[in-house]
Amino acid sequence: MTVTTTSTATRRFEVRNPATTEPIASVPDGTAADATSAVDAAAGAFPAWSATAPRVRAEVLRRAYELIVDDTDRLAALITSENGKSDADARAEVGYAAEFFRWFSEEAVRTEGEYGVSPAGGTRTVVTHRPVGVAALVTPWNFPAAMATRKIAPALAAGCTVVLKPAAETPLTALAIASLLTQAGVPDGVVTVVPTTTPAEVVSTWLADDRVRKLSFTGSTGVGRVLLKQAADRVLNSSMELGGNAPFVITADADLDAALAGAMIAKFRNAGQACTAANRFFVHADVVDEFVARFGAEVEALDIAPLISADAVAKVTALVDEAVAAGAVVRHQGLAGPDGWRYPATLLTGVLPEMRIAREEVFGPVVSVITWTDRDEMLAQANDSEHGLAAYVYAGRLQDALRIAEGLEAGMVGVNRGVVSDPSTPFGGVKQSGIGREGARAGIREYQETQYFSLDWP
Ligand code: NAD
Repeated sequence: MTVTTTSTATRRFEVRNPATTEPIASVPDGTAADATSAVDAAAGAFPAWSATAPRVRAEVLRRAYELIVDDTDRLAALITSENGKSDADARAEVGYAAEFFRWFSEEAVRTEGEYGVSPAGGTRTVVTHRPVGVAALVTPWNFPAAMATRKIAPALAAGCTVVLKPAAETPLTALAIASLLTQAGVPDGVVTVVPTTTPAEVVSTWLADDRVRKLSFTGSTGVGRVLLKQAADRVLNSSMELGGNAPFVITADADLDAALAGAMIAKFRNAGQACTAANRFFVHADVVDEFVARFGAEVEALDIAPLISADAVAKVTALVDEAVAAGAVVRHQGLAGPDGWRYPATLLTGVLPEMRIAREEVFGPVVSVITWTDRDEMLAQANDSEHGLAAYVYAGRLQDALRIAEGLEAGMVGVNRGVVSDPSTPFGGVKQSGIGREGARAGIREYQETQYFSLDWP
């Protein structure tokens, strides 16, 4: 076995299916000792892996892409069983997850530097990019495959070795991907997965270890803040992909058919449990009645997949109940299956900017509709959030769409599109939605240090 899950632990923990709440598997429960032995492996493997020819690393990544695609049926079933998302969403995730290996297999051989002449002449400058070293990766449960591959693929392409801590809710997918990486030819120690129910113990062990040179975290803004504070002690190079509270803007002359189709994806993918999920729908007063009626009909017909946990259901319930108590109205509600951790698709009107449901990341299948007439006021409300990850605009005229897109404080804006995720583009947020980018050429730079040589010919 060349990709290992180390564990000295005799403890194990259960993974549950959100659709039934029943246990489906158990995995070793990693400890601080496991965290350290994972770094031992990664530090031991780093010299050889970072010295491996980029073309060879690229071909390993390309094989990983092919193996994941070939294994779509099994991986999608595994994702559905531990995360609860629908089969269609799980298959889409497997395709998206695999694409990071394809994209970064192509990028692995294109990490060019620069050669320059100093402004005063004479001196030459060579700028190069080298792997940062052992990277600690921490991922959430909502995309158990893609959030792992979006980090592993660029790290390996850059020549780094990694230790990965998946979310305790969804460790099985990460373990399955690690074993496919073994088959693809990833050498021993390059990727080590440490599942645990004590994330602070494992991750703080990594952050305190001098051999770890990089932290890449995807998860909530709250946990991101905690880890950034710990990373500060060692001035650790850190990338943060954090929470979102995406506005979805519809102008008076937008193509409503397209906006509705986009809204369904932007809101209900993964039952609303996406960092890019549209939370707040700013709909122009001229079309709001038609939008609410038509979107409401779709909402009522939805039989939504379960949420990740009982806590998630309780949180969404509290946000909706509080909004209703403060004057919001449940205009439309869908179905929620009898078993598992469920909350029905819900459309609220009368949502005010100061309500918690408008201010916090909902992470559930709830649509909040806010009516607008004045563009600048709408933009001010849309930007009145600590988050700035994704945003969406539907407008009839490109100039209006761009004016609104440029006015939105967001790292990514879907213009007449309900999806922004694409491995060839720089995914990430502004404000408290994060630091750094994943995907695109920028994604590999997160795992590299820049070094330059100043050259002279005496
Ligand atoms: P979370 O922050 O609770 O957990 C994320 C990861 O951090 C998990 O692996 C968890 O075990 C670990 N963790 C939790 N507490 C920790 C601690 N004290 N020390 C070290 N590690 C700790 O988030 P979640 O509930 O798993 O995921 C949902 C959140 O992730 C949402 O806020 C969502 O917006 C965000 N997210 C962001 C992106 C993005 O790209 N920006 C993508 C997906 C999800």
